[in-house]
Amino acid sequence: MSVLTQDLFRRLTETPGGPGDEGAVRDLIAGAIHPHVDELSIDRMGNLIALKRGTGDSDLRVAVAAHMDEVVLFVTQIDKDGLLHVARSGGVNARTLLGKTVQVGPDRLPGVISIRPPHMRKSADEAETVPDIDDLVIDIGAADDKAAKAKVKIGQRIAFQTPFRLLSVEAEFDPEAPLPAQGRISGKAFDDRIGCAALIELLGGEAYPFDLYGVFTVQEEIGLRGALAAGYHLQPDVVIILEGTVCADLPGPPGEPQYPTTRLGAGPALTQRDRSLVVHPPMLQHLLRTAEANGIPYQFKHPNIGGTDGAGFAFLRGIPVGIVSTPCRYIHSPVAIADLSDFHNVVALVRASLPGLDNVTGVRKSRKD
Ligand SMILES: [Zn+2]
Repeated sequence: MSVLTQDLFRRLTETPGGPGDEGAVRDLIAGAIHPHVDELSIDRMGNLIALKRGTGDSDLRVAVAAHMDEVVLFVTQIDKDGLLHVARSGGVNARTLLGKTVQVGPDRLPGVISIRPPHMRKSADEAETVPDIDDLVIDIGAADDKAAKAKVKIGQRIAFQTPFRLLSVEAEFDPEAPLPAQGRISGKAFDDRIGCAALIELLGGEAYPFDLYGVFTVQEEIGLRGALAAGYHLQPDVVIILEGTVCADLPGPPGEPQYPTTRLGAGPALTQRDRSLVVHPPMLQHLLRTAEANGIPYQFKHPNIGGTDGAGFAFLRGIPVGIVSTPCRYIHSPVAIADLSDFHNVVALVRASLPGLDNVTGVRKSRKD
């Protein structure tokens, strides 16, 4: 039975959780996986660590990780007109922000992203340019600073307010049903709640030969900080990272060569190298062989783009890492689109890859005795 219902996926994506503010997402995940794991703990940074005990056939320590945080804005000032000035927490794409709806602070106060009026009156050119983040304000409908300050505090996070939707899916939304096998979905924070959702599925099944640590990390978007701490204290022999990754596959200017980062619907995206890490080559080979042996489609992510918690796990203790991602169009914006077949194939590929990890070169060498 699938742990991941459509309603759980909806709540996973709609719940706000900026870097350092992952509590609501963590509570939701902990509640969902609690019946399916043997131990749940939260470390001092806020990483949620689930232990699913194995059958005892292998003493390998395996971690699968996904980050809970999403890119957000945060309040830097409240001006005399009651507008909130903001800065970024993580790589928010400023081109995508004007006119979008947001939720501010723990009370999830509704607001709209606007631009300071003087900028709208400048030259025609200005109307065409990408607004600087410093020119954007959040309008929460407050009449003045006094009204705004009664509801909002400096430093509070501002997450996008985006409903989860089934797009090209035959069936209607059914809260208790598993995610449909086919079709496309839209929502916010697919980077990396779609990885969290895959990890929830992996924790829900039968026991693996070894103890599996499901690590839901914090603060990935501002520098892989949760993963650094979790890798250091957990000391796994091997880590698989589940991500929602960049998918720039829309057609460009005619006649120009197209180099999509990944393609929607073409299967799990395997990272060979990104800006932060060269993936452990035997792990990559293991993932490839497993995909081919099981008839699971896969694609390579365009090299040298982005970075993941994989680097956080690998840096301190040299832990071998593999990275498997669901392609998501428009990540780091208020709404992303993903293909459900990619998501299910990510779960299938990682589930099939886990039992063979014992035989992957280098995995056991990292063991601390
Ligand atoms: Zn991510």
